[in-house]
Amino acid sequence: MIQDIAPNVFHNEFHDRQPQAHEHVLVFDGGQALVGYDQDGRLIFPTVDDFRDIDIAYTYLFAVDNTEYFLGDLKENFTPEGFAYENMETFRKARPLNRAFAGVTGHSLYEWYDGHTFCGKCGTPTVKDHKERMVKCPKCGLVNYPRISPGVIIAVIHDGKLLMSKYAGRGYTRFALLAGFTEIGETIEETVHREVMEEVGIRVKNLRFYKSQPWPFSNSLLMGFFCDLDGDDEDLTLDHEELAMAGWYTPEEVPEDDGISLTREMMRMFKAGTYPR
Ligand SMILES: [Zn+2]
Repeated sequence: MIQDIAPNVFHNEFHDRQPQAHEHVLVFDGGQALVGYDQDGRLIFPTVDDFRDIDIAYTYLFAVDNTEYFLGDLKENFTPEGFAYENMETFRKARPLNRAFAGVTGHSLYEWYDGHTFCGKCGTPTVKDHKERMVKCPKCGLVNYPRISPGVIIAVIHDGKLLMSKYAGRGYTRFALLAGFTEIGETIEETVHREVMEEVGIRVKNLRFYKSQPWPFSNSLLMGFFCDLDGDDEDLTLDHEELAMAGWYTPEEVPEDDGISLTREMMRMFKAGTYPR
């Protein structure tokens, strides 16, 4: 999965520091990231050296091993030679994985900083804290920390088959598992039951937690569950706002896919017969 970057290690502890010339700079423009590729086609990011004499502000983000990443806030129009803006989807396929993970995680923090330049309560420009990753309003004192949304990925099993679906009205047309975000006041288990009922109209039992995954593409933390159909009625009643189709599939019918998401890994586990029973 995208966070499985071993032997590299992700360090998200906050530091209040400015970069040196060789350090990596993540620059974003809305849903686009400034990226390049070396001669082997491997993802690279510009370094501080690429922005010499350019008006740019840096914010420390995190490190992967000893490589520190900084968010670059360009104050003038400038694109370093050999780099170009690409859609965030580029990080789904880019390698090495530790740089793809750094890129997409950096974008999540960029969106948070970018969305909190003013106090949400009184509208005063916020200031960045020096001790932790937090922004504070100097007038009313409101503080904000990066926020993630918990959600679930659900693999429903019945009679040796897996429930797979396809989303309605999205560019994404591959098979998926049922998924949804947790509502306020709800446990993660209740989210599973509610989402399954809402999307396909069935009840489930025997929830088995599998793994979790940070999914910075949607600023979320996803928790994967395997579960079984409760009862014998396998007829599905689709929420057509959410789903274009859904059905029960044998392991042979589950497509081969080496994707980096928890959904893909859970589908591979089902196909291989190695999922938690
Ligand atoms: Zn305020």
